[in-house]
Amino acid sequence: SAKEQGKNRVLHFDVQLARRAQMHREQQARLRLALVQGEFRVHFQPKIDLGDGRVVGVEALVRWQHPEQGLLPPLSFLANLQHTELDHLLGEWVLTQTLGQIERWCSQGLDLVASVNISPDHLLQPEFADRLAALLAAHPGVRPALLELEILESATVTDLNQAAATVSRCRELGVKVSLDDFGTGHSSLALLRYLPVDGLKIDQTFVRDLSTDRNDHALVNAVISLGAAFGCEVTAEGVETLDDAAELHCLGCRYAQGFGIARPMPVDRLDDWLDVWRAHPAWQGQPG
Ligand code: C2E
Ligand code: MG
Ligand code: MG
Ligand code: MG
Repeated sequence: SAKEQGKNRVLHFDVQLARRAQMHREQQARLRLALVQGEFRVHFQPKIDLGDGRVVGVEALVRWQHPEQGLLPPLSFLANLQHTELDHLLGEWVLTQTLGQIERWCSQGLDLVASVNISPDHLLQPEFADRLAALLAAHPGVRPALLELEILESATVTDLNQAAATVSRCRELGVKVSLDDFGTGHSSLALLRYLPVDGLKIDQTFVRDLSTDRNDHALVNAVISLGAAFGCEVTAEGVETLDDAAELHCLGCRYAQGFGIARPMPVDRLDDWLDVWRAHPAWQGQPG
């Protein structure tokens, strides 16, 4: 009967839900194990000053070196961490790795600003700024201004007051804060009124079609002006060609990051890349 069919459907739905919940628990358990067993890696992508081609910093990007599946990109596993304690644990692990790396670079006389992506949940933890202060204290060789936090607009949606308070406290510690994927949110403009940030990162979806799409060109241009008006450092992400770099430079964008300059890489490869770039920069205010 129709009634029985309906009941079956409900049952089926419950089974699916239960299965999904079970899968989610298994994935979380696997991720916890990955953290304990040291399967995560931090890769670094260089960022240059378009004025002179100097490497000014790097962005830390997490990967999972999976024993069977190989190197997994963050978007394949970060969603499974959301709203769990693991999200904060992995976040602190990336911060710790990055601080250790900044310390090593400092000891080699290298002044590189390293940016770390902070998940919305992690940033909104009331103790985030205290934990960050403790991590900085544990790395006395690191000037706080060499650390930059990249936050997403979504971190401000649920609790703008908490986000703004945390951002202010982090900046009081001397750490820089930037808005990542700027322009993709619903209230990017309004945010600038409430969130005191040091930098804006123009989302790569706008940069990608810079040379062919008039709207994207106009948007990128507007964000660069906006950054200047608010005293923010502007970085373009997703710069895939030196032509894009030239256009961004022309529009007054100071910093750039993208495959056209360098891909994210493990730190041993970055050391070599830095040597090569210093000797033969592909960009020095114009193509080298
Ligand atoms: P994001 O912070 O906007 O980072 C930029 C992403 O764009 C990186 O992808 C980078 O590899 C990629 N990318 C850089 N240049 C180019 C380019 O020229 N062309 C193209 N097509 N892509 C480019 P990735 O490493 O896969 O990271 C994806 C996102 O995952 C990041 O976006 C960030 O939101 C998140 N993420 C990465 N690492 C972490 C982390 O440690 N913690 C947290 N919470 N999120 C992270
Ligand atoms: Mg980022
Ligand atoms: Mg981004
Ligand atoms: Mg992104």
